[in-house]
Amino acid sequence: MPETNSAPLGLLGGTFDPVHYGHLRLAEEGRAALGLAGVRWIPAGQPPHRAAPDAAAAHRLEMARRAIAGNPAFTVDDAETRAAGPSYTVVTLERLRAEAGRRPLVLLMGADAFLGLPAWHRWREIFDLVHLGLAARPGFALSPTDWPAELAQACAGRLGEAADLRAAPAGRIASFAMTPLGISASLLRAQLAAGASVRYLLPEPVREYIESHRLYRIPDGH
Ligand code: ATP
Repeated sequence: MPETNSAPLGLLGGTFDPVHYGHLRLAEEGRAALGLAGVRWIPAGQPPHRAAPDAAAAHRLEMARRAIAGNPAFTVDDAETRAAGPSYTVVTLERLRAEAGRRPLVLLMGADAFLGLPAWHRWREIFDLVHLGLAARPGFALSPTDWPAELAQACAGRLGEAADLRAAPAGRIASFAMTPLGISASLLRAQLAAGASVRYLLPEPVREYIESHRLYRIPDGH
């Protein structure tokens, strides 16, 4: 069973509808800044706390696979996209914790996802399962004085640095500086629906996949 002192493993959950360079830089810069052995990408099936994704789970999974292809530090976990029902992050993290033993796990998040944490199912239990690795995102504050009270309360005493993440399996929060990228999947979906170019905002193999499967287009007749 892996020991606490083995290098932490990063986790990146998301709808990835579609995956873009904001996600890739979050994973890459988080890996480097927090000393992660790698990052496991976990595309959501049907996320319970937001509207249904535009693209089917199988498409989002395939786009994630194409986005990370060739990077041995990145892997894709298809458990949530294979599940029939809604996927709760806390349930996925329980599974990964059971697999990891006492190895540190670090859930990477952009500031927007972190600020929305109190809406997640059994969110307080997430701190017992993983560390959080937080990146600023244009338009969202990462300063604790701007956090909702219940989030600030749950995080009190947990804030630390990259080195703290190696010392325990879970429970600490470290933020890291990330190249600010104002790219979002919603922006990409809007551009694709409008027939505008999304080239250079996401990996070319993902763009080609979107084009060949005619994803995110307004259906004919609308
Ligand atoms: P949408 O626009 O549909 O809400 P999104 O672009 O935020 O999608 P998600 O799949 O919801 O993408 O995000 C997965 C994770 O990646 C979240 O933790 C989110 O904060 C983070 N993330 C996405 N884009 C960026 C970005 N440009 N910079 C930093 N973090 C990002």
